[in-house]
Amino acid sequence: TVRVRFAPSPTGYLHIGGARTALYNYLYSKAVGGTFILRIEDTDLERSNAEYEKLQIDDLKWLGIIHDEGPDKPVEKYGPYRQSERLHIYAKYAQQLIDKGVAYYDFCTEEELEAMKAQNEAEGNDPHYSGKWRNEEHWAEAKARVAAGEKTAIRFKAPKKSYTLNDKVKGSVTYPDNMVGDFVIMRSNGLPTYNYCCVIDDWLMEITHVIRGEDHLNNTVRQLMIYEALGAKLPEFAHVSLLIGHDRQKLSKRHGATSVNLYRNEHYLPEAMNNYLCLLGWSHPAEKDIFDKADLKDVFTLDRFSASAAMYDLEKLKWVNSEHIKKMDNASLIALVEKEPETGFFNKQTPEWKNACVELLKKYAQFIPDFPRLVNELVLSENFEMTDALKEILSWETTPKIIDFIYEDVSKATTEFITEAQLNGWMDHVKKEMGVKGKPLFQGVRAALTGHDHGPDLKFLIPLTPVTVLKKRVAQLKK
Ligand code: GLU
Repeated sequence: TVRVRFAPSPTGYLHIGGARTALYNYLYSKAVGGTFILRIEDTDLERSNAEYEKLQIDDLKWLGIIHDEGPDKPVEKYGPYRQSERLHIYAKYAQQLIDKGVAYYDFCTEEELEAMKAQNEAEGNDPHYSGKWRNEEHWAEAKARVAAGEKTAIRFKAPKKSYTLNDKVKGSVTYPDNMVGDFVIMRSNGLPTYNYCCVIDDWLMEITHVIRGEDHLNNTVRQLMIYEALGAKLPEFAHVSLLIGHDRQKLSKRHGATSVNLYRNEHYLPEAMNNYLCLLGWSHPAEKDIFDKADLKDVFTLDRFSASAAMYDLEKLKWVNSEHIKKMDNASLIALVEKEPETGFFNKQTPEWKNACVELLKKYAQFIPDFPRLVNELVLSENFEMTDALKEILSWETTPKIIDFIYEDVSKATTEFITEAQLNGWMDHVKKEMGVKGKPLFQGVRAALTGHDHGPDLKFLIPLTPVTVLKKRVAQLKK
């Protein structure tokens, strides 16, 4: 059975690139009935903190990217799920690698390493470790020093051969034999390095597919070496394409909001975020642009990733958000609108009114906060500007008559709202009794009731507008 993981480092907010990686892993696990694991890579003790871990998990929850296993949902066989709680495991396998002779203690100091690097460079050699400790002759001495209590780094002896990775996205990737030198797997402070503990965890957690960003492709060769040294079965790898900004540079803060929580604060819909993030590097087999993650259960496969970089386009994300608003059911929309600040008026209306209101306004709203804004602008605002377009309508000889008639009638109204039937009655009267038709009829009535020359269909808008507001508008035009 398929086991995939998302392995964030809790050193900041959840980045949209991270959210996309999490989403792909989640979607794949759902599509194949597998398990989605959340692993916290917090071995950088200085930069990691519990607060970021909590915030990232919270953002994932907001997106509906829910893990099956993780720090809060442990399975004994595979846990713990925080790397900082697995240090004894990394130590144990590092010892095994030493015993096998594929890793060694390295007592070089920073200065010695620097000098080695400089010398290698000067001599035109690969800038790889060439210190004395890689030589087996010194290993007995090294082990004795460690046995006597000295702390030191453990370095992995990188085999001098080339590796080929069969990546699900990138295809066949060959790493030349001189690409990497011996690398540290355990620091002298007992903390493991990423390439090492990542493999230990993926192996022990029985991860079958590693789906992650292309920025890790260069790390993978070191990881292949460790799998080999452990005699562990390789998972499948899928390195998904880089996210870039409009200038084709790697996406960063310069390009605008890159953390999920900023979008969350701006009231983007989580499903719209998922939808858009999914499209950055993956395509729907039916070429659909708009979908929910649940819709992908039967169609999400690893062969639909694009190998080329995906350009992050805020305008497209906004469009996707507005499309999700349009396809959302009214009850869910109402629930979201009610939570917006300044929706006092909206919240006080009947269920029928609310339903009619969101049904009309969802055509115009890109974001949830647009609903209260549009209610204010279109439904509640008593004032309007004397635009040239309005002046023109008022200059037609039929318009003042329409205004007089509506003023009379609306002044008599005792209900809170007028009905669509009442509006039709006014239209009929103007048409049949006053003999006005076409543009002068429609524009004249619109101007009288709204003070605008254009806007949503009157038969939907006017029954939503309080009679008190209609009265004030028409009274202003009458003068
Ligand atoms: N902690 C690593 C990161 O956040 C995980 C990389 C991986 O998925 O192997 O980039």
